[in-house]
Amino acid sequence: VSGLAVTGAVLDGRAVGLRAEGGEIVAIGPDVRPEPGDELLDGEGTAIVAGMVNGHTHAAMTLFRGYADDLPLMEWLERHIWPAEARLEAEDVYWGTRLACAEMIRSGTVAFWDMYWQPGATARAINDAGLRATVGPPLLDGGDPAGLAKLREDAAAGLAELEGSSERISASLAPHAIYTVSSESLAWIAEESARLELPVQIHLSETEHEVDECVRAHGVRPAELLDRAGLLGPRTLLAHCVWLDDAERELIAERGATVVTNPNANLKLAVGGIFDLPAARSAGIPIGLGTDGAGSNNSLDMLAEVKQLALGQKHRATDAAAVTAAEALQIAAGVRAPLLGASGAPVPGGRADFLLVRLDSPELGLGSLEAGLVYAASGSVVDSTVVAGRVLMRGGAIEGEAEIVARARERAAGLGLL
Ligand SMILES: [Zn+2]
Repeated sequence: VSGLAVTGAVLDGRAVGLRAEGGEIVAIGPDVRPEPGDELLDGEGTAIVAGMVNGHTHAAMTLFRGYADDLPLMEWLERHIWPAEARLEAEDVYWGTRLACAEMIRSGTVAFWDMYWQPGATARAINDAGLRATVGPPLLDGGDPAGLAKLREDAAAGLAELEGSSERISASLAPHAIYTVSSESLAWIAEESARLELPVQIHLSETEHEVDECVRAHGVRPAELLDRAGLLGPRTLLAHCVWLDDAERELIAERGATVVTNPNANLKLAVGGIFDLPAARSAGIPIGLGTDGAGSNNSLDMLAEVKQLALGQKHRATDAAAVTAAEALQIAAGVRAPLLGASGAPVPGGRADFLLVRLDSPELGLGSLEAGLVYAASGSVVDSTVVAGRVLMRGGAIEGEAEIVARARERAAGLGLL
């Protein structure tokens, strides 16, 4: 059996070899050597670290990067993004997602949660790129329960498109938000999630306006509304959660739902608040980190995101000890939220998902590796990215990258975005 062998790299400060077979790590240690027939990956000058898990994005929105920037959230969505999205074809989504995957591979992401149209094209792109992902098309009824029948059809069609995807890709249900999906449809999605044991991902409490409107229309806050629909549970991922109060945090913790914070997108779209990590942590909520889409961030670099997470928390709490580099990095690697399905630290028997980062780069040459990755580095320190034992980037090179960039550019031009 031929496998993958990493030579000359450092793990936790000591020189090791690593071997993987069949997508799993079979050995790591100072005496581990390549076996005959192994594919070799030269790790000289690098450290082996866990890959990042992007807990919330809209991958194909790379097509909208740099389009209609610097506008208020609702104007940006309603006048620019939604009309352009209405023209999207499967090939647009495919190449936009390939572009997103190339950027994620380049900056050290090994798995992501995606909410976007044309899930079949999305899954095909992720499969070709080699990453792991949980995918779901956005479900909306415009807040009108009369739209439930159509929403059920859309959900079934989305799941049908994802059937037969690679084992690296999972399906999910993705109600867009409480202000675009009626309570009746949210309740149906909760039943469907329980029946099919599918995770649910939804935007929640992104703006203060969303909270005010929810209280005005329903008499309860957003997390309480979701709970009333039966949609708050251990399979539920809540993106944003900038405006939670203490009672909502307690409820989310009690139900075991996961919160994914997206600090760069929140700052760029000026939502006016910062997710309260210390309060969520002390309530016992599982926490992940995401970039949101390239239309609103505009980067998918999780090492840029993790710095913003750490700095925003320190600033918000006026306390430099509000979060440590070690905790921020664990959140970015997805290991503080089991729902995200992170591979975690590379260990024998674990999935062969890991990065080689350049210890001879200026950013990581000195001092603590964790602090360097969070505060000093960007994704440019990533030398190689491995998922399921397959080398997706080797020494900074991704196969087919030039074509991916060119094709995505062509699709964006065809949509009138350039
Ligand atoms: Zn989003």
